[in-house]
Formats: sequence, C-alpha cells, structure tokens
Amino acid sequence: MKKVRHLLGISGGKDSAALAIYMKNHYPNLEIEYYTCDTGKELDETYQLIRNLEGLLGKEIIKLTGTENSNEDPFDHFLKMYGGFLPSSNARWCTKKLKLDPFEKFVGDDPVISYVGIRGDEEREGYISKKSNIQSIFPFRKNIWSEDVVKKFLANPNMDSVVQNYLSKYQEPNQRFLELLDQTISPSFTQPQKLNLLLDTDIKAFNDLVFDFMKSTDYPLAKEEQFALINNTDILVREDIFKLLEDSGVGVPAYYKEKEFEVNEQKGTYARSRSGCFFCFFQQKIEWVWLYEQHPERFAKAMEYEKDGYTWMQGETLQELIQPERIQQIKEEYLKRTERIAKNKKSPYLVDILDEAEGEGCASCFI
Ligand code: SF4
Repeated sequence: MKKVRHLLGISGGKDSAALAIYMKNHYPNLEIEYYTCDTGKELDETYQLIRNLEGLLGKEIIKLTGTENSNEDPFDHFLKMYGGFLPSSNARWCTKKLKLDPFEKFVGDDPVISYVGIRGDEEREGYISKKSNIQSIFPFRKNIWSEDVVKKFLANPNMDSVVQNYLSKYQEPNQRFLELLDQTISPSFTQPQKLNLLLDTDIKAFNDLVFDFMKSTDYPLAKEEQFALINNTDILVREDIFKLLEDSGVGVPAYYKEKEFEVNEQKGTYARSRSGCFFCFFQQKIEWVWLYEQHPERFAKAMEYEKDGYTWMQGETLQELIQPERIQQIKEEYLKRTERIAKNKKSPYLVDILDEAEGEGCASCFI
C-alpha cells in the first residue's frame, strides 16, 4: 500500500506561510513536504519570505515550475506558447499551467493530505482538487474537513451508523451531541446548521467520528492509523496570522506594510493585498498605482507585456493608468472607498479594507 504523503503549498501569501509555521509548532511529528509553484514573476518580498520560511522550517521548500526543460521563467515559457495572449479572470491559463498542473504532476497517484491555510474568519472553500487521491484539510478552521467529506458524513442515511459508533466509543455520551446527530437534515434544519451545532458542542468527538467514517471511503485518510488533527480545536483568524508570522521571526511579507501617499493634501495609505505575480490581473487599480510608485522597474516590466492589443485590464492600458490625472483620480476614489468601508468595519488592518474581494480569484496563488 502506498504511503500517504502530507503536503503544504506555500503561495507566498501570509496565510500559507503562517500555516507552515503553525504545523511545525503543533505537529512536529508529521512528515510534511512543503512546496511552492514558482511562476518566476513573484515580487522579491515573496522570494524573501520563502527563504525566511526555509530557515525556520529547517528544510527546503520544493519549487515546482511546470517547465523543467526550459531556461525561461515559467510564465514567459507558457506566454510564448499562447502567442502572447495574456491571462485574465476569464482565461486563467496561468493558474492551470503554473499552479495546478505542476502540483498534480508532483502528487501523481500517491494518496495525499493537502493542508490549506483558509482562515477561521473566511467563508471561501479554496481550491479543492478533483483528483480523488488528494484530500484537503483546513487546520485554521473550526471545521477542518472539506465540503465533500462533510456532505457524505452528515447525509441522513449515514446517521444511524454514526450514532451507533458514537455510543460504542463514548461511555458517557453528550446528550445534546447525540440529539443533534439524530436530527434529520431538512429545509428547516440545514446541513450547515447541523455541522455548526455539532462542532460547537464537541469538536473532538465530531472529528473522531468523521475520521472513523473515512475508513469506509477511498479518501487518503482511510489509509492512516491515526490523525493528530482530530484533536485540533484551534480557530485562527487574521490577527492570529499576523502575530504568528511576527512572533516566529519570519515576518509579514513586506508588501502588506502600509505606505503613505498624499492626494489633494489628504493623506492615505496603500499596500499590496496579496501575493502572486507582480502583474496579476486580479489586482485593484490602486495596487497597480502602488506597483508603479513602489516598484517602478516591475511596473515597467508589466508594461512590456502589453502589446499586440493584449492588456492586463479590460478597457485601460498601463500606459493610460499612469497618466498623472488618472493616478490622482484612482487615489481619490480609493480614499473615498476606504473611508466608506472603514466606517462600517472594526478591523484595523488596511488589507481588510483593500481586500474586499479576498476569496475571489486565485486560491492557489493567494492563500
Ligand atoms: S498570481 Fe495572478 S497572474 Fe499569477 S498565476 Fe495566479 S492568477 Fe495568474
């Protein structure tokens, strides 16, 4: 029987970096393989973060490129293959070629547990491989299991055997937990409600029962004798991530640090909200301005890609975006937007404000 591999992808963003640190601190006996899918187009701060992490983890983070036989940067290699056709949110060949394909090749047919750094304060599910030999686990969330597992486990026809298992394992069963297990999912008692109530009543028992249920499936965890994370009751939110990074000495990726700017004698701050390629088409206009002002050489490189009618954004070229009156307009609009959002939010973090759209886009690039 093939051994189950435990993998953790480092995107270059704060959450996956924090997850690597967390797993090392809490589960030092798990043999985790760390990897990153390198597009060749990350900011220097991201490469620095990866080096810092390697120092802390005491092992190499494996670089997957998807272009082993090419001398070019992986992104440029594929761009050439696509005849200069720049990727966009509707035509995201970059994620497939530079992230998903190399990862699935790295995994092959091996049974894999993939640890994903989606936080406890996020709603999104993240990238779930369609390959049945890859199982995602979310250690920062109250619910560590992926949606497909929860759906199968909580299915009404499965509940009799779950209840029996619970009663046979637990000498003093929690009556509330038992009632919840017994309660049928229906339009007035939905699966998310049942899941949340069970977790709020006893996370460990819930995880224990799911792990037992795994044995009757083909999921990779069916092959494991034990799984330390069933005892995990931690829930980590954004503040915890920043603290973990600072306390470990790895540090928060430098592009999250706020920089001041001034427009119409009004002061504001901007930063970049996520990792990923410096020219990523998911970035907001103010982030393009940040790139232009804070990393002009990178911005110039991004401009070089815009030719033959291909642009990074719909309806505006980078050349148009850096006209002084346009920069001023983008900053003014951004200031208005941040003021509006800040009024409705309690979070002190600029990224919370900048990153309204977190969860959209490229989970494999930004976690
Ligand atoms: S960061 Fe953006 S440009 Fe780079 S691979 Fe991901 S989606 Fe594509």
